[in-house]
Amino acid sequence: MQRNMLRPLTNFYISSSQKRCYSKQQVRVRFAPSPTGHLHLGGLRTALYNYLFARSNNGSFILRIEDTDQTRLVPDAAKKLQDDLLWAGIIPDEDPTRGGPKGPYLQSKRLELYNEQVETLLKNGSAYRCFCTDHRLDLLKREALRVRQIPRYDNKCRHLAKEDLAEKLKRGDPYCIRFKLVGNIDSFDDLVYGPVSYDVAQNEGDPVIIKSDKYPTYHFANVVDDHFMEISHVLRGVEWLMSTQKHILMYRAFGWTPPLYAHLPLILNPDGSKLSKRQGDIRVENYRQSGIFPLALLNFITHAGGGFNRVQGREQRCYSYEELIKQFDLSAVNVNSCKLLPEKLLEFNKLEISQLLEDENNATFLVNRVVRLVSDAFPDRSKDGSLQLDDDHVRVILDWAKNRISKLEDLVSRILEEFDRQLASKDADFFRKESLKDWLRNFADTNDIPFDKFMRLLRSVLSGLKEGPSVAEMIEILGQNATLDRVKRALS
Ligand code: GLU
Repeated sequence: MQRNMLRPLTNFYISSSQKRCYSKQQVRVRFAPSPTGHLHLGGLRTALYNYLFARSNNGSFILRIEDTDQTRLVPDAAKKLQDDLLWAGIIPDEDPTRGGPKGPYLQSKRLELYNEQVETLLKNGSAYRCFCTDHRLDLLKREALRVRQIPRYDNKCRHLAKEDLAEKLKRGDPYCIRFKLVGNIDSFDDLVYGPVSYDVAQNEGDPVIIKSDKYPTYHFANVVDDHFMEISHVLRGVEWLMSTQKHILMYRAFGWTPPLYAHLPLILNPDGSKLSKRQGDIRVENYRQSGIFPLALLNFITHAGGGFNRVQGREQRCYSYEELIKQFDLSAVNVNSCKLLPEKLLEFNKLEISQLLEDENNATFLVNRVVRLVSDAFPDRSKDGSLQLDDDHVRVILDWAKNRISKLEDLVSRILEEFDRQLASKDADFFRKESLKDWLRNFADTNDIPFDKFMRLLRSVLSGLKEGPSVAEMIEILGQNATLDRVKRALS
């Protein structure tokens, strides 16, 4: 493992009136997820902004897996995470798979380093061994709750007499190592949030940095690794903003220069609620499997929250990787939480389909994908050869459909089949605007499809137009035969 104890003090930024300038030091940033679940939109945004920052500054983007909390590990999560990043085109320069000069990039493989480094803090008095039992800590917690205070460790073992310490060590009593928080330190300048002052010692007890099983905690491992991996800027979610002062105290205790920090605003649902990672539908894997293209997803998450210097025209665009890199500007990241509007995602996906079709190689890729989708959706017809799936024909269909569909999957929508089946069983009387209106809404509800989306799909199938009379009216005008005929044509 390479070590670099003497890091040059060139790591500064000047906050002039508006503009922030970065030092000439090499930019090295990292995405440091814990493999405790799936990659979701929040994590993807952090990874992407780090990647764009590295690329726009000719720097390096590092993936470090923070797996020190062994109780929360999810099998395969680290691998899936790497697959998702790869799919999204966010390719690290150094990571656990490809390695790199500052590896290993998996924290569980760096335990020796943490245990070696903590000795420095023990020796210079910035850390101490704590022998408090779980039972005592539990009593402290309960007492705090009883008097309606926030539980915190009372720093008892800071004051352990030398003889007591020697005695406990001799007896082999289990212990953890805690970091001594000191109060009243200066504020730090966050590149997004500006000056932040938080006296952590006033609010928290001394944190554990090495657990009794010799595993480090997040705070300690994170600081040690950022230092030894020579990370120049830490871009991470705002939920870590309050921990940063603690990290800076550790850098100070080691005599190291901290990196620069830039915290990214929270991403919210349209109703203002927190975009929780526990919601299955914000997993990158879900988008990937449901026919969303990587660049559409990236444009979707960069659409809210700022961070880009772009002249916003009236037309919505799906920017390329090169454009995103060129436009990325950390000082343009918003401080306010940002809301993601789900309908934008399908708009970006539609734009991406059109853009992909403009390039011959990409168009071939799309054609192949449609052939696969159709064959999977209609296995019997695929076997008996009654599907017309030659490349030229599929290409014509795609060119026709590109402004009408938001996903390739829409081309083989099972909803249309169901719709066709149900309409075929109705009598002529049914085809009146009034009864159709309720029936359409009901159909959308029972088949669990957003009504607007369903109407758009039907409109394009029935008339090929984006605007026009209501769908119910169109069906009334067309009548049963012509309606079924058009639906069947769209399905064939
Ligand atoms: N392992 C932390 C996480 O899961 C990393 C936070 C940081 O970037 O410092 O988000």
